[in-house]
Amino acid sequence: MKRTVAVPKAIADDVAYARFRRLGDHVVLTNDAGRFHLMPQLEFQRMLGGELQLESPSHVRLAELGFLRSQPKIDVLADRLRDRRGYLMVGPSLHIMIITLRCDQICGYCHASRTNLDSQGYDMDEVTARAVVDRIFETTSPSITIEFQGGEPLVNWPILQLVVDYATQKNVTAGKALMFSLVTNLSLMTDEKAEYLLDHGVMICTSFDGPREVHEWNRHLARASSYDEAVKWIKEINARYIARGHDSGLAYVNALLTVTRATLSKPREVVDEYVALGLKAINLRPLNPFGFAARTWERIGYTGAEYLAFYREALDYIIELNRKGVEILEKKLALYLQKIFTDNDPNYMELRSPCGAGIGQMAYNYDGKIYTCDEGRMIGKMGDDLFEIGHAALNTHREAVGHETVRAMAAASYLDSVPGCSDCAYNPYCGVCPIYNYIEQGDLFGKMPGSDWCKISMGICDHLFGRLASEGPELRTLLERWTREKDRGEAYCVKAGSSMTY
Ligand code: SF4
Ligand code: SF4
Repeated sequence: MKRTVAVPKAIADDVAYARFRRLGDHVVLTNDAGRFHLMPQLEFQRMLGGELQLESPSHVRLAELGFLRSQPKIDVLADRLRDRRGYLMVGPSLHIMIITLRCDQICGYCHASRTNLDSQGYDMDEVTARAVVDRIFETTSPSITIEFQGGEPLVNWPILQLVVDYATQKNVTAGKALMFSLVTNLSLMTDEKAEYLLDHGVMICTSFDGPREVHEWNRHLARASSYDEAVKWIKEINARYIARGHDSGLAYVNALLTVTRATLSKPREVVDEYVALGLKAINLRPLNPFGFAARTWERIGYTGAEYLAFYREALDYIIELNRKGVEILEKKLALYLQKIFTDNDPNYMELRSPCGAGIGQMAYNYDGKIYTCDEGRMIGKMGDDLFEIGHAALNTHREAVGHETVRAMAAASYLDSVPGCSDCAYNPYCGVCPIYNYIEQGDLFGKMPGSDWCKISMGICDHLFGRLASEGPELRTLLERWTREKDRGEAYCVKAGSSMTY
């Protein structure tokens, strides 16, 4: 007589602590270490009812990923968690210097709260610049990025050069991995400045909101077309990198797009503009209600749902282009993917827990005031100094990091203590912004289910996991390529005592 062997069942309480979210006919499960598993709803129900068969593919996969108590992978998961939260062990690495508020362009969404070119008293002076660099070098972080912002930083060119020289000189003894980055609208660029920046390894980032009519609508330049200026210099600088023999995949102008109401109807057109310019990455940044954007919201703003509809269409188009062999990725999704598919965390200040305010970055205003981040400085410009944590000439770096506002920001952005986020399946990949909460809801501690910030983050993750569930391994292989972006730091990093090569 043929014997029937009963198939052993997994028991429901074998599942270790995990978060889950239903997506159509699938469920995504995640654990604290950021491992995920997508399973059909039916299997999920079986698992909860203790009916999941031991040798089923889902059971095997859950065991491999450390989701089961009977097969714990404590050491592996702990290592992964420690690596992913490594940013908590170092200290502020990103230091934003607002070396002037003056600017030659007028942008409807200006986060910087600029002033006119002929305004007086809005430039950082030499004494303040040196004090700021001294404070920056007090950081415990082994790496330092000094980012020049404004206004338009090229307006205060002598101070930019002074900071590059003084910081490089200090680094001979400090021995940090030092990088410089310039956020510029490019319209005041000259041959001489471009050569200096390339000679000194300063990374160049610019805003590019193309197509032409959108860029010019968003960014007004009185004496010329802001679009023509941006396109001319993006092409020119990229050509100079190549002429100097640099890898065009490492040394290039970083372009950022800010989505306004004028962009919403053009998801494919903006992607085509970036591809036509030879750019390999597009960052579809939503508008934040800070700076001038708070005042112009009625004209240029939109709802989270409107943004998501735009984002999904643009992203689907980018994936379609990738399948045709076009090399272009979406930067925000690439950051999520790095957190989802790899053991590394890109240390992006708004996608970490806690966020980077005062513990990962700091912003230094032209007058020497220190803020938790540039967004905190913008709120200061709006007349509220809640996010001011010191002054470069009066306080030490340690005093600024230890400021009570920094502690409050860390508590408010630690996802495991934020209602809604603590049990959200996307917790291991997400981040919240206390300043956004403060502006949107009047409190650093956000009620995330009602927030547009959350709607956008959740919508992006739902779209990603929904597509992964329905399309399978081919899409995953394609998207995993986006996590292998080359480390550009190597190309620009100014190591202590070395001569600069870019
Ligand atoms: S912000 Fe929204 S999507 Fe992100 S972890 Fe919190 S609840 Fe989840
Ligand atoms: S408060 Fe907001 S803008 Fe500032 S570091 Fe945190 S997430 Fe970024």
